[in-house]
Amino acid sequence: MLADKDRIFTNLYGYQSWELKAAEKRGDWDDTRGLMARGQDAIIEEIKASGLRGRGGAGFPTGMKWSFMPKEPKPGKPNFLVINADESEPGSCKDREIIRHDPHKLIEGALIAGYAMRARAGYIYIRGEFIQEAWRLEAAVQEAYDAGLLGKNAAKSGYDFDLFVHRGAGAYICGEETAMLESLEGKKGQPRLKPPFPAGAGLYGCPTTVNNVESIAVVPTILRRGASWFAGIGREKNEGTKLFQISGHVNRPCVVEDAMGVPFRELIDRHAGGIRGGWDNLLAVIPGGSSVPLVPAAQIIDAPMDFDGLKDLGSGLGTAAVIVMDKSTDVVKAISRISYFYKHESCGQCTPCREGTGWMWRVMERLVTGDAEIHEIDALWDVTKQVEGHTICALGDAAAWPIQGLIRHFRPEIERRIEERRGRTLEAAE
Ligand code: SF4
Repeated sequence: MLADKDRIFTNLYGYQSWELKAAEKRGDWDDTRGLMARGQDAIIEEIKASGLRGRGGAGFPTGMKWSFMPKEPKPGKPNFLVINADESEPGSCKDREIIRHDPHKLIEGALIAGYAMRARAGYIYIRGEFIQEAWRLEAAVQEAYDAGLLGKNAAKSGYDFDLFVHRGAGAYICGEETAMLESLEGKKGQPRLKPPFPAGAGLYGCPTTVNNVESIAVVPTILRRGASWFAGIGREKNEGTKLFQISGHVNRPCVVEDAMGVPFRELIDRHAGGIRGGWDNLLAVIPGGSSVPLVPAAQIIDAPMDFDGLKDLGSGLGTAAVIVMDKSTDVVKAISRISYFYKHESCGQCTPCREGTGWMWRVMERLVTGDAEIHEIDALWDVTKQVEGHTICALGDAAAWPIQGLIRHFRPEIERRIEERRGRTLEAAE
């Protein structure tokens, strides 16, 4: 259980003001210059030692990602930091809370991370639908400029760093890091082929690191309290605190900060008031946002909620957007709806994704009503395997995995519908 004193986001629910003065009282911007004076490499080493893994879904070690950036930017090729605030994964709603109520944590983190990576400027790419949040962020950035915390000689550190807020236009795919760079450049937001990776050629062809909002917002606290403090929370290779976003059939849906590795039952009982109708009523959980496979009740109840714990169950922590489904859920229909989402959001660049997502969704729709043949379940499984890993970006995987999870765990339910429908048709014919 995470002690109150170990919480990083102390204004997650907006009980206090988001403004600079209040943020300073909470400890933000406290001797930022001193933190930066430790030196760029020392900051990167500290973040590496903390064990922080990216909070945007992939879980790549943050400090290592930073170390890929050139230490001596070439003339005319500055380094850039891009912060991914395009939070569009169904179920995810944590970055929005940080931006609404604690934007200075993010802005201070951007300065420190940008400095550590020798970035000339940072761009916060915020989801187009987040209108109020974009206004809030712009106001907070302006406050930081007015107080001399950004711009020339930022926070009196001797380092120049600019930070821009850029609003997206509401496309899920722009959350993919290279599509985001395309969009920032004013082009159609379509993922790039990799390599080259952004650290080699990113925004405007310059070295770039793209980090999630939460990953950046925790950086100042890690530096203030020390890598060993952060690494002492959670489990090995799954260290630190995490914002969990609990939605669906719980008594009190919420966003909450807890330790990585907290057991699922504890997370739900303590923060979300338990499962609607009690624990016997739990059907399945999508633990990391709509793109990860669901996990049936019996397997997840005592599972540790972190990267490795959920990987062991054939799923993933993703963004820690925990979608709880009780026994009233039509689980086939739920996954079919998710399939529709990915079909709709495919950018259409590569054939397996463009054609496969639509094909999979159409079959899913027939499985909902049972209007299919048993062998089509196997055909659908095969198609998910042909899409998975064969596309430019991870949207193909994101469309395939929920269906794979459904077939893996709920095949009898799909077959039951097909048999039932066949029975009804035969009856009608007789
Ligand atoms: Fe576009 Fe889908 Fe290919 Fe990604 S996988 S590049 S979303 S078509």
